[in-house]
Amino acid sequence: TTRAVWFRRDLRLNDHTALAKAIEDSGQDDDILLLFHIHPDLNKSFHATHDYFFQTLQKLVEGTKAPFHFIEGNLKEAFDDLFENVDVDYVYFNIDESGFGKKRDDSFLEYMEGKQAEACSFMDHHMHGAKEVTKKSGGYYKVFTPYYKQWKQYMKPPVQKVDHSKLEELAVDYMSSFQDGKKAYEELIGRTERSFDGVGEEAAWERFETFVDGPIYDYDKERDFPAVDGTSLMSRYLRTGAVSVRSLYHYMQDEVDFRKNTEGVETYISELAWRDFYNMIYHFYPESKDKEVVEKYRGLPWNNDEELFAAWKKGETGFPIIDAAMRQLNETGWMHNRLRMATASFLTKDLLMDWRQGERYFAEKLIDYDPASNIGGWQWAASTGTDPVPYFRVFNPTRQSERFDPHGRFIKEWVPELVDVPKKYIHDPSKMPENEQEKAKCIIGEDYPSPVVDHKTMRDRAIEMFKDKKDGS
Ligand code: FAD
Repeated sequence: TTRAVWFRRDLRLNDHTALAKAIEDSGQDDDILLLFHIHPDLNKSFHATHDYFFQTLQKLVEGTKAPFHFIEGNLKEAFDDLFENVDVDYVYFNIDESGFGKKRDDSFLEYMEGKQAEACSFMDHHMHGAKEVTKKSGGYYKVFTPYYKQWKQYMKPPVQKVDHSKLEELAVDYMSSFQDGKKAYEELIGRTERSFDGVGEEAAWERFETFVDGPIYDYDKERDFPAVDGTSLMSRYLRTGAVSVRSLYHYMQDEVDFRKNTEGVETYISELAWRDFYNMIYHFYPESKDKEVVEKYRGLPWNNDEELFAAWKKGETGFPIIDAAMRQLNETGWMHNRLRMATASFLTKDLLMDWRQGERYFAEKLIDYDPASNIGGWQWAASTGTDPVPYFRVFNPTRQSERFDPHGRFIKEWVPELVDVPKKYIHDPSKMPENEQEKAKCIIGEDYPSPVVDHKTMRDRAIEMFKDKKDGS
């Protein structure tokens, strides 16, 4: 019997449900074939998310004692090729519940109908699946707080132990039959050039152990300050599947010192639940990448100003905290959560630009791009999603900056033009008198832009835009 294990966005060797089950189900004479599918479109639209993803894949492939097989082409071509070359009896994989992944699963299951081989699929990517946490009366939640109350009550799934020595014994090498796939893989790896902080399963654990050793206890207090290294940085690893959310949870249960104040730990676990929450929302609103979840806010008259959009993208808006955040994103592929909220709010409420444009820009730049969380975050900020920030509570970017980067440390790290600007003006350098500008070697309008909009005016316009739409005028 031959079992193929199809890796997708679960690029790890531990606590991997499909892999663990395939090994568990195998007898001593059975074969296991490790598999990765490369779609031709990947090479066409290569960006930061792919760059990081394929570096993670490379780490996995190189760190696995069993050989990996690459099949390429569209789904049907790739699997036809597999089945022609190898007598596969079962294909094991972890399912996706939303977005592109779900569509791929649906097409795959349809394709497998009537085939000799059988598809064996598992829930793996989330702690609790999209349909798992339901209201007592049936139906799913639309608001996070009651969802989370319920989420906490559920038994957490156990870690799925992978028997590595059995895997090594059963793994087969048919690589020679899949040379085209190997070439496609090598081509993609050849395109990954940027270097990133932390790639793959080992790096994920190194980071998480450090986080649980200390910063997690202050997470509730520190997580909003971008100049502090106070968050776990797990999103990139959860995105690529270099770690599973289950194993993070169980590791915390084992390692956290519960004699200490554990409010930080609890807050951290609630953030992991947000990931499940948005996965659920995306599952039930599959069109939410393109459409507002709240129907009455569809068709808002968004601004379409290429120049303003370019200033936002480049980090040249004249609002230091927004600019610092966008430059961090452009350079590292990651942005702090507080600043994702601030920059998304700025694009939609200060520039009055369509949240879809922002969502797509983040999709191109984020190494942790997760459609469900990104769409959820954008629709939250745009006040068009489920459980969003109310449209009349508009973030003031300067106040955000004063509160969450009080000394301007984060700003100065990312906006070198402002390094010598005194603390008094760091949140709004346009207020600097001329002599101060000279002293700080930062002439507003020359070295650093004047604010591209007036916050108060735009805030009023945003509120009016929403109010008009709501009232049907
Ligand atoms: P930590 O603070 O250490 O949180 C731990 C984990 O909890 C994260 O890794 C993540 O998996 C989860 N988490 C935390 N906050 C959220 C949240 N609001 N929604 C869903 N999950 C959460 N997260 C992504 O993983 N991918 C995205 O594409 C993404 N886009 C976003 C876009 C916007 C506009 C906003 C407001 C938020 C977005 N988030 C996204 C959520 C959040 O900003 C990131 O998960 C977080 O900044 C990642 O850093 P971290 O791992 O250090 O987070």
